[in-house]
Formats: sequence, C-alpha cells, structure tokens
Amino acid sequence: MLLIVVDQFRYDYLERFGDLFVANGFRRLLRDGASWTQSNYDHMPTYTAPGHGTMMTGAYPAETGIIGNEWLDRASGKRVTSVSDETVKTLGGGPNEMASSPSRLMTSTVGDELRLATNDRAKVIGISVKDRSAILPAGRHANAAYWFSTTSGNMVSSTYYFNQLPAWVTTFNATRSADKYFGAKWERLIAEDEYVKRAGPDSPSWEVVSGSGDTNAFPHTITGGATSVGQAFYWGLDYSPFTNEMLVSFAQQAIVNERLGQDDDTDVLTVSFSANDYVGHRYGPYSQEVMDVTLRVDRQIATLLDFVDTRVGLSNTVVAFTADHGVSPIPEHAATLGLGGARLKTADLFAAVSKALSAKYNPQGKSPDPSADYLLKYSEGTWMREYFINGNLYFNYDALRRDGVNVEEVSQVVVAAALTVPGVARCFSRTQLLRGATSITDPIERRALHGFSPSRSGDVVVVPEPYKYLGDTITATHGSPYSYDTHVPTIIMGTGIKPGQYLEAATPADIAPTLSALLRITKPSNATGRVLIEALRR
Ligand SMILES: [Zn+2]
Repeated sequence: MLLIVVDQFRYDYLERFGDLFVANGFRRLLRDGASWTQSNYDHMPTYTAPGHGTMMTGAYPAETGIIGNEWLDRASGKRVTSVSDETVKTLGGGPNEMASSPSRLMTSTVGDELRLATNDRAKVIGISVKDRSAILPAGRHANAAYWFSTTSGNMVSSTYYFNQLPAWVTTFNATRSADKYFGAKWERLIAEDEYVKRAGPDSPSWEVVSGSGDTNAFPHTITGGATSVGQAFYWGLDYSPFTNEMLVSFAQQAIVNERLGQDDDTDVLTVSFSANDYVGHRYGPYSQEVMDVTLRVDRQIATLLDFVDTRVGLSNTVVAFTADHGVSPIPEHAATLGLGGARLKTADLFAAVSKALSAKYNPQGKSPDPSADYLLKYSEGTWMREYFINGNLYFNYDALRRDGVNVEEVSQVVVAAALTVPGVARCFSRTQLLRGATSITDPIERRALHGFSPSRSGDVVVVPEPYKYLGDTITATHGSPYSYDTHVPTIIMGTGIKPGQYLEAATPADIAPTLSALLRITKPSNATGRVLIEALRR
C-alpha cells in the first residue's frame, strides 16, 4: 500500500497542467485509478498537520486532535506543534534539535489497524521532508517515520520508534544527498512559452521573496543566501524542487532495505512531497515556479511508481494519491483581479474586541481596566501579545473567574465585535460549537465544527472573507474553508478498484475507510469518512 501526498496540491493543477504530464505519473493514476473530481476537505483550518492527520485516519481534526500545525497547550501554557514531544530525542539531527513523535494523534491509522490485524507482521513507514507529514499518516503504532533535518541535512527519526537509526538510513545520510544541491540551478523544465501561457510572466510584483536569499525569477540558484552548506542552505533547499528528488531516492532505499511488499503481509509506505508547499507559499498558485514544481513532481512520482512496479509490481500494490490542502491566490494578486484580496491585521481585530470588552465590562472607564486581561496573552521578547493561532482567540479563564464573568456572555461580546471588523466573514464561539448550535448544511459552519477539538481549540474562531488573509504575512497561504483550500485530488489505483472519473462528492477522509475495506481490516478508530463504494469491484 503506497500513499503519495503532494503538499499544497490543488485539484485544478491536474487540469491546468494535465496535458504536460508524462505517461507514468499523474496520467497513470488518472488512467488506471479512480479519481474523485469533487473531493474536498470538510474541515478548517486547512493546514498541513490537520490534512495529514485526516487522510489515513478517516477522521476530522475534531477527532484526531490535530487542529493545526501548532496550537496553544493550555495545560503547559506553551505553544506546541502537532508532533513535538519532549519525552523523545531526534536521531540523526543536530544538537538539541526538537524531537517529534505521533503522541498527539488521538486516533488510529490504516497502518496501525493493519499492524494489529497481522500481529505486527505488516510494516508501516512514513517519509517526508516535514516531520508532521511523515509521522501523522503513518500513525502511532508505525515502525518508523523519517523526515529531513534542516539542522543536520540528514534524514532523521526519533527515539519514539527505535533507539538507533537503521544502518541503511545511516548509509544514506553518509552520501550527504542534500549537500550535492548546493549552488544547483533550478531552471524551467520546458519552454518558457508554456509557462507564460498558463502562469503569466515570471516576476510579477506580488511575488515577494525578500530576505530569502533567492530571487523571483528563473533560474533560481539554491544557496539559501549562504556561502556553504548549513542550516541557511537547507532552508533554501526546502524552497526548491530538489528535496522531492531526494525523497524519491530515500523511498527507494526504504522499499529495498525494509523489503516492503516482499511477503504475504501488506506493508504501508507513505511518501509526502513537501517542496510543492514551500514553493507555493513563496510564489503563489499562479506562478511559473508552482507550474514547474508541479511538472517536476509528476515526473518524480512517475519514477517512484516505476520503481514500485519493478520491485513489487503495481498489480500487487494499492496506490492512493491526495494532498493535505490547496492554496489561495496571493492577496495582492487577487486584489488586482478585483477578487477582494487583502491582508487583515490582527491588531485591528484585537482593537475592536478590546473596545467591546471595555464597553461591556468597564462601562465607567475605571483604570486599570479589569477587562484588559480577558484575552489570553503570551510573552514575545519584552512585550505581550494576544494569542491568535489557527484563527482562534483564547480567553484567560482565570481572569474571567476572578471577575465572575460568564463565558457564554463574553463569547457573544467577542463574536459580535469581531464581526464588525471589515473583511471578517464569520465567527463561531466555543459554546456555540460545543452545543452543536451550527448548521451542517452550511459548509463553513460544518468545517469549523469538524476542525474544533474541545480540549485543544480556542474560544472564538474567526473566518476572514475569501481571498483575505488574517494576520498572515507570508506571500501565499492556505487555511480557509474555501474551495481553493479544500478542493484536492483523491485518487485510488489498484486491484479491487474500478478505474474512472467519479463525480460523487468525496473527501480525503474517505481514503482510510476505503483502503480498510480493500484490505478487509477494521477501519481506523474514528474513521467517519465513507467507503467510496462506487469504485469498488464486488
Ligand atoms: Zn501542507
């Protein structure tokens, strides 16, 4: 079983660039597999960790607990990542490199269930450049997950899985496969005309790359602004198509050395290509760079599929392909097109909320204002900032208790105030979401509910209007409940699957239950997606 993920791959890339793909990459998946053309994530925020947490669990972030790439852990008062784990150590990383594990994932994956069903004879391995994208699809009972360390330039893992890297991984790292890209030139793969026709000119004003050590025009020379290999270069390398090449080599080594697919028990390999996400963040979905990294990942996937075919046989393999989220056009680009692109400032949001809190809870204008600490703050250097993560505001429960303030009432005050900020489309409170006082026929309310975990989410969820970013300074990003972020490919190819295009509504949450049906195993613990029966042979 092979899961292929391309990070930040919108469904429409299959259509916009489809005629330029090679025969054995995406075209093979579309020809020999079942493809759902109306496949959308049904949660928000649409970020990397929630998406990767959903595809092999069949569960929404509300169930997996993976509500963002990072969130506030109320118990410790710290910001944590979806996979950060202070109880384990990185293997192969730099000194004091933060370690990662699947400990925060609350539900089982297809791989976990397969291991249970085979008395652990099945092997389950996850691979990516990003830790979260390697770890979450593989699951808590996986044999291993490997990701790229920008500290050491190695493929690394953690003591969650074993106490020492397998010998083949150490051998791979000894080849310094990342270092050979230092100073590499990233050029266009095909004639420039094709890029101009589909993506426009190379260097529009909204492609802002300042401080990156790179330019916004081809050819890109990959150094990260550094004069030799090291962390700055490895960061720069992330923003090139070359890490995807490295990942294919590493996946091939994993298949050979772990003998994946060589016996009667089904194994699981998940490979998530991260370069497309980094490039998309820097240049936006309508750039020549994104077009190029898309054409390249098609060829890289062709290489991987050809390798699996030679080594294992694609007739013995089920392949699933999806993405963790899409991406929005760059706001400045969307603005020039009249689509309402804009960047909303969190300071404006907090000003409106603070003013409303003062008016309600400090009508006499006493000083100090008791409502000044009703929103939870964290320290950043010498000053305090209000928490705003994943579109979530957090209340300071101690302060509310101190003043006897009712949580339901303060929620209504904050929601009403947030909705007065120009560019804010919707706003939901914890109390409203917990009560189920939302309409499941309203896709935005439903997606907010599916992305809300009572133990981890904040107290008020704010949703900006389409094409607007709230508090994001990165050139292009994702996270919204809108189609450009939710519409991604879902393709399954292999024995038991009827090839074709399917128009039924689907979601990547349907992949895990469908794979479980094909494998005849128990579905992951909280799989709520549907089995895509229209493509199953009886
Ligand atoms: Zn992502």
